[in-house]
Amino acid sequence: MKQLGRALAIQLHSGPRRVQLSIHQRLLEIPLDQLLVDARAIRDRQFGSRVTYSPKVFIPLTMLCRDKCGYCTFAQPPARLENPYLSAEQVLAIAKQGAKSGCHEALFTLGERPELRYDVAAEWLKANGFDSTVHYLHDMAALVLKETGLLPHANAGALYKDELALLRSVSPSQGMMIESLRDDLDCHRGAPDKVPQRRLDTLEWAGELKIPFTTGILVGIGETREDRINALEAIAASHARHGHVQEVIVQNFLPKPRTGMQHEAPCPQDEYLWSIAAARIILPPSIHLQAPPNLSDDFGILLDAGIDDWGGVSPITADHVNPERPWPALDKLRVVTEERGKALAPRLTIYPEFVINPTVWVDDALHFPIQDRSDAEGLGRDDPGQVWPEKVTAADVVLDGAEVVLIGHRSTQWYSGANNPPPSLIGTQHDGTPFNEVDVDQLRGPIAEILQGVRLGQRINEAEIVTLFSARGKEVRAIAKVADDLRKQVVGDAITWVHNRNINYTNVCTFKCKFCGFSKGPLSLNLRGTPYLLTLDDIANRAREAWDLGATEVTLQGGIHPDFDGDYYIDVTRAVKDAVPEMHVHGFTALEVTEGAKRLGEPLYNYIMRLKEAGLASLPGTAAEILDDDIRAILCPDKINTEEWLECHQVAHEAGLRSNITIMFGSVEHPLSWAKHIVRTRALQAQTGGFTEFVGLPFVHMASPIYLQHKSRRGPTFRETLLMHAIARIAYHGLIDNIQVSWTKIGPIGAAQLLQAGCNDMGGTLMNENISRAAGASHGQGMTEDAFRAIAQPIGRSLLQRNTTYGRPDREPARKGAVLTS
Ligand code: SF4
Repeated sequence: MKQLGRALAIQLHSGPRRVQLSIHQRLLEIPLDQLLVDARAIRDRQFGSRVTYSPKVFIPLTMLCRDKCGYCTFAQPPARLENPYLSAEQVLAIAKQGAKSGCHEALFTLGERPELRYDVAAEWLKANGFDSTVHYLHDMAALVLKETGLLPHANAGALYKDELALLRSVSPSQGMMIESLRDDLDCHRGAPDKVPQRRLDTLEWAGELKIPFTTGILVGIGETREDRINALEAIAASHARHGHVQEVIVQNFLPKPRTGMQHEAPCPQDEYLWSIAAARIILPPSIHLQAPPNLSDDFGILLDAGIDDWGGVSPITADHVNPERPWPALDKLRVVTEERGKALAPRLTIYPEFVINPTVWVDDALHFPIQDRSDAEGLGRDDPGQVWPEKVTAADVVLDGAEVVLIGHRSTQWYSGANNPPPSLIGTQHDGTPFNEVDVDQLRGPIAEILQGVRLGQRINEAEIVTLFSARGKEVRAIAKVADDLRKQVVGDAITWVHNRNINYTNVCTFKCKFCGFSKGPLSLNLRGTPYLLTLDDIANRAREAWDLGATEVTLQGGIHPDFDGDYYIDVTRAVKDAVPEMHVHGFTALEVTEGAKRLGEPLYNYIMRLKEAGLASLPGTAAEILDDDIRAILCPDKINTEEWLECHQVAHEAGLRSNITIMFGSVEHPLSWAKHIVRTRALQAQTGGFTEFVGLPFVHMASPIYLQHKSRRGPTFRETLLMHAIARIAYHGLIDNIQVSWTKIGPIGAAQLLQAGCNDMGGTLMNENISRAAGASHGQGMTEDAFRAIAQPIGRSLLQRNTTYGRPDREPARKGAVLTS
């Protein structure tokens, strides 16, 4: 009962106690318009404005089938086919085309057990060393996965439990249409695999095996509305037992030439819409509902009936099941979706609800291939371009850069730290035309409601932050606009920067943060690269050099050397201040400070006061990573926890030192962790007012140990990166005025977009930035005022040099072009 739409439920509950039995009749009695309203309401409550599709390539492994269904044009007799099966080379060629076109899914579609009907199929399998079509499918799915990274979806019909289990190891999801539970349909007379019990058994076994499963019904093949209700209820019942049905497809019958049903009438539109709406009402709301867009001329109306997914859409291969009906172009799909106030998002073959719980739903071997294509929500990465499995080899020359180099196919999507250009999400589109201005008042859905609240001065909470991170398309532009309006209101148009130098005094570290490509063990424990430790003289010389080049700040950060006690950090601070008394010393993460105090057995406040007396003026926010201890347990289990990070900054603020907030995002965590991080740091800022800025640090994956061990994503997508900064502007509004772009990780083209989405600061010139490079980032190690201006000017913004705490620098401007090259 609880899955029924509100209006319908009220009607049902208002009647006498014959309710359960009359559900079907009531559905049949409710006017279509009302049913559609109910279905849409359920969809909107569950999925908000999101509508998904799966960018896929269609691999028709064999078009032979032992069944003969009256509506099918897919199955062919052997005489019509050159070969009974696609060869491995053909399979791979199609899959590679898909990967080059930016697909995420390889949809294997095939006839049912052709070897039982056609000798030619049985002989081919035997000659090639396979017991059955399913075994061949297993090997081809494994091949595609290994070579292209496309995630297979096996659509192999009615299978036995051992066959489903075999495919589970290579196919993150599987599918089989129930079609209908009527056992007397003319169209299924020659189809032994369409016996309803065989279909139900397959569905049930898939549930027992914890396989994310796609199923569905056909509408208009001779069944009645009651039959459809029965089939949908059977699906819902199996899902209630196992929780495995990820989506249900409601597909309309269309007569096709040269089929048994070629002279039958197509499924009437009202009947189809009724069936979709009935499915939405009968099924649990969490099951996604799909209708193929290529089988309806006016496919936008399918959204009116309650679907939230368009299914697989291929940029390159035909729909082999409905070859006469090409898929709409993606642009058209987007326009139609947005016309109905929805936002389009690419997904993987396995839905996010299952992606985020892989230990239950996915074979161990598939965890990483799925993670490798996922965004933070468990949807498909949505930056345009290709995603190939990354293969690396050790670098010949390491110096201070990454220790691995990429080989093989190069992915062309944007990644933080890589040179691939980001997509244009705001400002100007790729073809040079500006995006239409988004009228926030015209948007609909949960994101629009939150933004309207922001414009009325409301502060967003944790749940609302999570919702904003789900934005797509126009919604992203609306968030960017609201954030940028706040930026203008608070700090105006100037883009600030600080002339500074990074001094990473050692890369030796006793901690084992799983994302860190920078740290090395001490020589005795050396695992990788060359450990170094700068002397105090080196540090002082670097500070002097920096001052001579115009710097006002040095940023001191490094590994936690086993030989350091807390006095080391005081000595380093003094070394800089003795060399250049005017230099602002911005240094030491909460880890270094906490560890320094701990190693001396000194109270944190005393220790911070001694650092301050030595000349320390502010603290960087790094070592925060993600302030969510469940995630820290994965990323940096031996590091300070959330409370300790917050305490260190609170004590520093009490001691009169300013600091900033950083977040390293895009490795293993989900948006809820981002929201927790923002809300917790915001609460501290409300208490102390000591944070000067927020700095988003997108995870650079390329040479990061956790990525090389196949345990993280490839960093955030560009959309997530832009949203992180824009949402930070909105969430911290009234408490933190400055939102900084990390150019080392985002690059100048991406930085220009972020500066139009709420950011106002470019950070520092850095001069020698080693940490991002050690993780594989390829943006340079230093910036100049001119390089900052080259980003600011084209977007119509002025440039303003600042000091560390956002005042004006009290020394002569930097020498032009002054940058270290070493
Ligand atoms: S992030 Fe810092 S503490 Fe962690 S291993 Fe790297 S250098 Fe050490």
